[in-house]
Amino acid sequence: MSMQFADLKLIEPLLRAVEAEGYSAPTPIQQQAIPPILEGSDVLGCAQTGTGKTAAFALPILQRLAQGGAPGGGPRALRVLVLTPTRELAAQVGESFITYGKHLGLRTAVVFGGVGQRPQMDALRRGVDVLVATPGRLLDLCSQGLAPFGRLETLVLDEADRMLDMGFIHDIRRVLAMLPERRQTLLFSATMPPDIQKLADSILRRPVRVEVAPVATTAENIDQRVVFVERSDKRAALEQVLKDPALRRAIVFTRTKHGANRVVQQLGRARIEAVAIHGNKSQGARERALASFKQGTTSVLVATDIAARGIDIDDISHVINYDLPNIPESYVHRIGRTARAGASGVALSFCDSEERPYLADIERLIRKRLPLLEIPGLAYAQSDPRPALQAQAQGRPHQGQSRPQGQSRPQGQGRPHQGQSRPQGQSRPQAHAGSLGQSRPQGQSRPQAHAGPQGQSRPQGQGRPQQGRPQPQPDTTRADR
Ligand code: AMP
Repeated sequence: MSMQFADLKLIEPLLRAVEAEGYSAPTPIQQQAIPPILEGSDVLGCAQTGTGKTAAFALPILQRLAQGGAPGGGPRALRVLVLTPTRELAAQVGESFITYGKHLGLRTAVVFGGVGQRPQMDALRRGVDVLVATPGRLLDLCSQGLAPFGRLETLVLDEADRMLDMGFIHDIRRVLAMLPERRQTLLFSATMPPDIQKLADSILRRPVRVEVAPVATTAENIDQRVVFVERSDKRAALEQVLKDPALRRAIVFTRTKHGANRVVQQLGRARIEAVAIHGNKSQGARERALASFKQGTTSVLVATDIAARGIDIDDISHVINYDLPNIPESYVHRIGRTARAGASGVALSFCDSEERPYLADIERLIRKRLPLLEIPGLAYAQSDPRPALQAQAQGRPHQGQSRPQGQSRPQGQGRPHQGQSRPQGQSRPQAHAGSLGQSRPQGQSRPQAHAGPQGQSRPQGQGRPQQGRPQPQPDTTRADR
């Protein structure tokens, strides 16, 4: 019989909460991470959102809190701090602590920027056991003496790679300097590039390393298709695919915030109700959009990569890439929003002629050719412009087609190079609170509004960007304060 939650030595109130959530068995990351965390070890976890990683750290942390008790019945003390890159993820993680810990009588607070400080200050003054925070707002509250770390036992860095991408390293270091040296530290990251490894080496003590297969290799239950469609036909194509009766809930991804708003407006004209969520919206507007999507009032959510990160909504039947992401790893993140926890899902990608280099990069990353979906009436959709399809038919291995490995992108096919222009080894440009598009080096002009692949081509001879880490998107909003 497969492993059960009870086999992980979890206490009864946690088992009850997990059962109430309908989880039948621990996921691989939970099986691996829960025992060492329960024992008090540091953990370095390589796992993406969608693998069950939140419960993998929340459950054992809650158990340690419950078993540790508030010493001497004294006042509550802040004993666990979880740092996350985005407010959505902070809210999600906070909710998970509350859900899993509901029979334990512990208190969790969530703090992030973009909303008034007062309720957060009040919650902290009342005393909490667990604090989930984005770094900027946390520092603001710390400077007012509201987050005393003297009795902190456990620190979690969640989505550490994204935090570094968003320029939070200095804030993280400032927080670290305030924490007791003797503590348990858990670091979770979807990818392990050298800067994350370096951070891990400097803050973890003899960590237990846990790792689960990246989503890229676990997406077998997602029916992935590409639709070749001209840009001007994408709107009609979207309306068509949204008519699929099998569609229960869809997330439509656009590359920019502007694009997300435009899609919502266009769908509105076609009488298809949709809501957009992205970093430019007020917290209230985002929460309302998410709530109406979660409740099923609206079945279409339009989002940018950064806004969708950390959103945890189950039962998404379709992910539609209205624009292909210019960073292939984002594709994997996007489609991971469907087919959660063993369900099946559909991922459709619209690819216009300018996006074909992006498609090639995605197919190379996932080591798979996306089968074609033809939409009747859209002429361009009838043909498959990918040259290597023939090669595949002839039985040759289909490594990403178009470009031989190691050869740099032909001129003119370049893509906007957010984040990739930085020569290796050169430090990340500093991000400032509230700045947009932090990845653009100073003094360089903003990519054109029609940020299609015609943006800036990669300098000759520079070859492919590093794989393995999603780079910041142009509409990355750092709204953590
Ligand atoms: P996460 O990777 O933490 O974002 O979790 C992804 C999704 O999986 C969330 O919707 C969780 O509620 C769900 N989940 C977590 N653990 C389990 C489990 N053991 N069985 C089924 N679903 C789970």
